[in-house]
Amino acid sequence: MKATQLVLASGNAGKLREFNELLTPLGYEVIAQSAFGVPEVDETGLTFVENALLKARQACRVSGLASLADDSGIEVDALNGQPGIYSARFAGEPKSDQRNNQHLLHLLAEVPSAQRTARYWCVVVLMRHPDDPVPIIVQRSWEGKILEEPNGDGGFGYDPLFHVTGLGKTAAALDATQKNQFSHRGRAVRRLVERLSSGNQA
Ligand code: IMP
Repeated sequence: MKATQLVLASGNAGKLREFNELLTPLGYEVIAQSAFGVPEVDETGLTFVENALLKARQACRVSGLASLADDSGIEVDALNGQPGIYSARFAGEPKSDQRNNQHLLHLLAEVPSAQRTARYWCVVVLMRHPDDPVPIIVQRSWEGKILEEPNGDGGFGYDPLFHVTGLGKTAAALDATQKNQFSHRGRAVRRLVERLSSGNQA
């Protein structure tokens, strides 16, 4: 049987590979939006859900296919939820993980360990067409605490500062398979797969 094609509303090669690994066995083929010339959309939403929907809708509109999109970030309690949807450019343009981490440490300099709680969020959306009134929306979080100094060389973004609750190490100290097992993104994608394979029961 021919695979059902889905466009991924992202230019990230790692995300493309991960989505294909999970969705190929269910009869889907995930294709990068660059193959259809989909330009980056302005992320003007105020929530992860809104931004994921904006990306997915544009990918559907330009490609004419169903699309997948994700949006993610970190919410720090002592900063009233910042940086949230602004996680990628927390320290301004151009985007830099290192400057973002320094900025976060600076803002938390006076905050004691017990109050440095935080969580990653990931929202994944599957939209069948640009006017889809019921896109599948899944969101998952991952609890942790912001350390006072970085630890670990793996992962990306805030991972060296993100001490995972219950694991006793940072997200940057996990290998890719372990991170995928526990993370906000890995669990959100697996939940989406469950929804697809069960005929989309909420
Ligand atoms: P986006 O979902 O590609 O827009 O990424 C949002 C931003 O959130 C990233 O640039 C990181 O700063 C942060 N972020 C999201 N997920 C993770 C993660 O798993 N590890 C580290 N940082 C993350």
